[in-house]
Amino acid sequence: MSTHNNIAERKNVVVLGAGYAGSMAANRILAAGRPDITVTVLNPRPQFVERVRLHQVATGTSDGIHALTEVLDPDAEIRVGVAERIGEHDVMLEDGTTLPFDLLLYAVGSTRDMSRVAGGTHTFGVDGYEESLWLGNALESLDDGTRVTVVGGGLTGIEVGAEIAERYPALRVSLVSGAEPAAGLPLSSREGILRRLRALDVQIRSGVTVSRVTATFIEFDDGSVVSSECTVWAGGFTAPDLAARSGLPVDAHGRLLADASLICTDRPDIVGIGDAVAPPREVAAHIRMSCQAAIPLGAHGADTVLALLDGASPRPLSLGFVAQCISVGRRYGVVQSTRRDDTPRSPAAPSTPRTRSRRAICASRTSTPTPSTTPAPTSRRW
Ligand SMILES: Cc1cc2nc3c(=O)[nH]c(=O)nc-3n(C[C@H](O)[C@H](O)[C@H](O)COP(=O)(O)OP(=O)(O)OC[C@H]3O[C@@H](n4cnc5c(N)ncnc54)[C@H](O)[C@@H]3O)c2cc1C
Repeated sequence: MSTHNNIAERKNVVVLGAGYAGSMAANRILAAGRPDITVTVLNPRPQFVERVRLHQVATGTSDGIHALTEVLDPDAEIRVGVAERIGEHDVMLEDGTTLPFDLLLYAVGSTRDMSRVAGGTHTFGVDGYEESLWLGNALESLDDGTRVTVVGGGLTGIEVGAEIAERYPALRVSLVSGAEPAAGLPLSSREGILRRLRALDVQIRSGVTVSRVTATFIEFDDGSVVSSECTVWAGGFTAPDLAARSGLPVDAHGRLLADASLICTDRPDIVGIGDAVAPPREVAAHIRMSCQAAIPLGAHGADTVLALLDGASPRPLSLGFVAQCISVGRRYGVVQSTRRDDTPRSPAAPSTPRTRSRRAICASRTSTPTPSTTPAPTSRRW
């Protein structure tokens, strides 16, 4: 009889976090059809949150949420709860219970990084589902003419600012950032995005760093002040501190340090995936915190887990990209084709975000990036 059918030898794989990476990993392991493996997925809610649509949740143009039972393989055991600490052989949950594991997939994603600004409690966010609902409630209650400031000129800030301006044209929306919005994109793409933002009446102020936020104004590090009754933070993301709290090795962004196969550098029984992992530069210097990376990282993490269970050598990560997709409101978007290492090619194609952008957004394939064009890492994010 195959040892795979021996219940006593069943291995517990626990997946921490049912986002893009965790869901992909759980489904891929279960798709192997191995009766010797049990997969338990721990998530704070029984739903999958479609984070790439959270700016739409805030403006009421998307639900952004799906039952985990629809997203995960029917054989996945779903456990609703929050991991408090990772121990030697089990995870301790906030409710006081524990979850034993033989192998752990660490997939807890990322959150808003407020570490370098005072008054973070006065900001709204779109990094989580509740945060987006709170922002949505706040936007609904604002009087016409109220100043709304989105901090961050990266792709998230652009998407959030455009979405709010399009949905609430009577609000006075500004986008403030250090670098020019979409600074990493070629001129033709940037110009299209800036044109659309201006058409939506979004005021753009770049070359500034926010040092303090209050309920009514923002202060910049040059001492200047602008009024802002609703400030939305899209100025950067960081990983949750669960790994650090558990005594696991992390980088400056709180991400679990892993080897080229995504195995934690200190713990051969923990595999990191998605926004919450930091693999070495030689395989990951080009990888941003993004859903387009989280999904293939989840797939690779699943393969690593299966190899470890079989006593085989896991393969090193080899991940390349084909495009970045940016929506600027509901009626305009840019599909920016990229090289394997995620650096943009020119020119980009304008796109209708409901159609091509969002479908292509997770387009990615496994291939090796061209080393000579690999950009400096790793704090870049969506
Ligand atoms: C508004 C917005 C728009 C975006 N648009 C794009 C885009 O167009 N393209 C793109 O590529 N990327 C985009 N991103 C980035 C993308 O959403 C993230 O990079 C992606 O979600 C990362 O996937 P993940 O699986 O690593 O983490 P997540 O999707 O964040 O999932 C992590 C999961 O872990 C759970 N979790 C956290 N802590 C614990 C714990 N202690 N115990 C149990 N569970 C826990 C969380 O609740 C969550 O369910 C966008 C992000 C935002 C906020």
